[in-house]
Amino acid sequence: MEIRITRLSKDFASEGKRIHALAKVDLTIPANQIFTLLGPSGCGKTTLLRCIVGLEAPDEGEITIGGEVVWSGARGVFVPPEKRGLGMVFQTYAIWPHMTVFENVAYPLQARKRPREEIRRMVMRTLERVQLVGFENRPATKLSGGQQQRVALARALAAEPKVILFDEPLSNLDAKLREETRKELRRFLTELKITAVYVTHDRVEALSLSDAIAVMKDGRIVEIGDPHKIYFDSDHRFVADFIGRANLIDGRVAAQEGAHTRVDSVIGPIACQLRPQLVAGSPVAVCIRPEFIRVAARAQDTEGGANRFRGRLESLVFVGEAYEGEIRVGDQRLIARIHPAAALVEGVEVEFAVEPEHCLALSH
Ligand code: ADP
Ligand code: MG
Repeated sequence: MEIRITRLSKDFASEGKRIHALAKVDLTIPANQIFTLLGPSGCGKTTLLRCIVGLEAPDEGEITIGGEVVWSGARGVFVPPEKRGLGMVFQTYAIWPHMTVFENVAYPLQARKRPREEIRRMVMRTLERVQLVGFENRPATKLSGGQQQRVALARALAAEPKVILFDEPLSNLDAKLREETRKELRRFLTELKITAVYVTHDRVEALSLSDAIAVMKDGRIVEIGDPHKIYFDSDHRFVADFIGRANLIDGRVAAQEGAHTRVDSVIGPIACQLRPQLVAGSPVAVCIRPEFIRVAARAQDTEGGANRFRGRLESLVFVGEAYEGEIRVGDQRLIARIHPAAALVEGVEVEFAVEPEHCLALSH
């Protein structure tokens, strides 16, 4: 079910100051997708989610779920949370420790006063969907973290919501379990063909789980796109920097040259992915990801060609699957991922190259 958010604002007063938790947010969340709100702590993700669910009343704007207006400042509409047909999974999954798995999942249905037999049928069907059949009589606390997470998911799904919302649901799991649960969640949600709104500050989680990502900053949506677009072709410096490790090199747009935008940067001219909207002379940062920098020992007399640079390998740190090298070119330091087999040592002069398609000129 599509969710449409129009010019949604919400201020909080805190210690005498006004905080714009949401500043005129416009957003359309398409039906049957996993849609992630990603951003640093305090950017307004939870507030936006709570407004959609109905746990928070916005100051202005409108929220429509599947064509029905559930909140409108101008029209004075407020549909209470229990009438919005949504399911929610919170950060602390808040399953009830004194109840069995069955009782946990049945609870929201009992609260809606559904008949006993119907509840039994719906709970068992939901447990099947999250692969917890056989666990129904187990006390919820006698489950692993991942299984408890699935109980929380089952409880949110039991009443067959039109939309399911998650607020950092994996942040209490350890790294390995988080990775497994993430994959599992993606599989469940894709199979269910349900609209899912997922809040996280974890970029890897967002990239691996989502069909689309909206990156937020200071109560605003900065950029929306699929994970590849956000990672490889972002339009914003903030997004490129937040979504992955990025070298940001200051420069000015020199010219539009056929297939490339040329930037005169502090390390020399860089041929970048074409951005025709950039005007010559305007200041930009060129974003280059560490994995796209190809480093080689410096050949004696090769000249620097297009996007070939020379520098000094200041440090080389083993990080497991690769080395991380820090290359210095003048005053600029660049992080490069270096293959463990590369015959390089700290302190040597190196040559490195990067394809123009992996150099993004970002103006803001
Ligand atoms: P996120 O979930 O992205 O970390 P939140 O939506 O929780 O961010 O918060 C956005 C901003 O609003 C933050 O500055 C936070 O401190 C503030 N905020 C959130 N809820 C309240 C509240 N109930 N009272 C005062 N300030 C709040
Ligand atoms: Mg939050």
